[in-house]
Amino acid sequence: MINRQRLAQVLEIEDALFKKLHPKSRIAADSSSKSLIGGVPMPWMTRLPGAFPIHIRQAHDALLSDIDDNNYIDFCLGDTGSMTGHGVSEITAAISLQMNRGSTTMLPSQDATWVGEELTRRFGLSKWQFAVSATDANRFALRIARHLTARPKVLVHDWCYHGTVDETLVILDEQGKTISRPGAIGPQIDPALTTRVVPFNDLEALERQLAFHDVACMLIEPALTNIGIVLPEPGYLAGVRDLTSKYGTLLIIDETHTICAGSGGCTKLWNLKPDIFVIGKSIGGGFPVAAYGLTEELATKLKTDLFDHNVDVSGIGGTLAGSALAMAAIKATLSHCLLPEQFEKTIGLALQWANGVENSFKKFGLKWSVQQLGCRAEYWFCDTPKNGASAAAASDPHLESFMHLWAINRGILLTPFHNMALMSPFHTKQDVDVHTQVFGAALDTLFN
Ligand code: PMP
Repeated sequence: MINRQRLAQVLEIEDALFKKLHPKSRIAADSSSKSLIGGVPMPWMTRLPGAFPIHIRQAHDALLSDIDDNNYIDFCLGDTGSMTGHGVSEITAAISLQMNRGSTTMLPSQDATWVGEELTRRFGLSKWQFAVSATDANRFALRIARHLTARPKVLVHDWCYHGTVDETLVILDEQGKTISRPGAIGPQIDPALTTRVVPFNDLEALERQLAFHDVACMLIEPALTNIGIVLPEPGYLAGVRDLTSKYGTLLIIDETHTICAGSGGCTKLWNLKPDIFVIGKSIGGGFPVAAYGLTEELATKLKTDLFDHNVDVSGIGGTLAGSALAMAAIKATLSHCLLPEQFEKTIGLALQWANGVENSFKKFGLKWSVQQLGCRAEYWFCDTPKNGASAAAASDPHLESFMHLWAINRGILLTPFHNMALMSPFHTKQDVDVHTQVFGAALDTLFN
């Protein structure tokens, strides 16, 4: 359906426009290449659109400005790290105040108690600990689950993403065997030894894997968000809870992205009952933090085993985890952001965004689809996928490159890796209208 020759042509035009719009970023990228691998401080930054990374001068509210004085409506929001919007004044003030009082002392601050209570109020689990990143929180959750169940394996969804956690960088091959995910480098060992994998929305496959009785925990996002948004079919998550309970497998729910569903994430919205809960990114308002929560029963068992003389070498912790600064950041964020009334606004904006995209599909007679989960929305170049493998199969790197490059050249930043937009309370209906117009113009260029 796509004229590939036309696509190549317009990509070339957009590439030239990008270079013309970013002369200073180009010079900055050239000089950073001398000291940074790939010219960036973190490899994923090369996945943003353009021949070289745009260098950002300032991010505020829902707006980014680069060193060439271009402005962008930011629908990426640091891939959820800044879902609150950038530079929220109350969070900035709290972090600055705590920095002046001492950032990290290896002793608790009183904010930690408030934070624990608030997390319980929002997500239901009774006892909490903290990590520096969601990746670390997931690693700790897996370790705890293996310890508590005395079982060796973990189970995840095909095409899931839970951070740079070895056990989870896996997919199913055509024979249904666990293999390393394409692109994952340097796996420690054959991941089939650590991990069982099942397609999302497939309870029969799940039961077959759990029946080996060697699975300590199933780590899930309640809706896949990292291969685009794939929503659970009715009854799927209830089935997951029933089967994991039946086979003595702990259920870990990672809401690092799905907090977009509302102030208590999908766990609150859909009344889920995880044994362990993980959340990172947004709860620090841009400051690197993550939390993991356990049921009272698991926390009691863990306390007995973990908190002895050797707790510092347990494999769980982190020098800067749970610092006074981290606690101040979470307290300020959860006091002022990610609140129900803000979600009301941002979910409305995501709906408006999805409708704008869908109307363009209709106009051009495209059988493409849009998916929304709370304040996050995403479009596909295919019908709505049911699981990660069908979502992955629908990816079209050239077309994606074009859509992202077209958007950034017209002042819109989408989440890289997919075609996703996330809303903050600072976005406006006008911002979304700009996206609708720019998106429609992209299709016009491709199909007219
Ligand atoms: N869990 C989920 C669901 C994620 O999407 C991510 C990152 N995209 C992580 C965990 C890891 O977060 P971080 O890279 O901040 O450790």
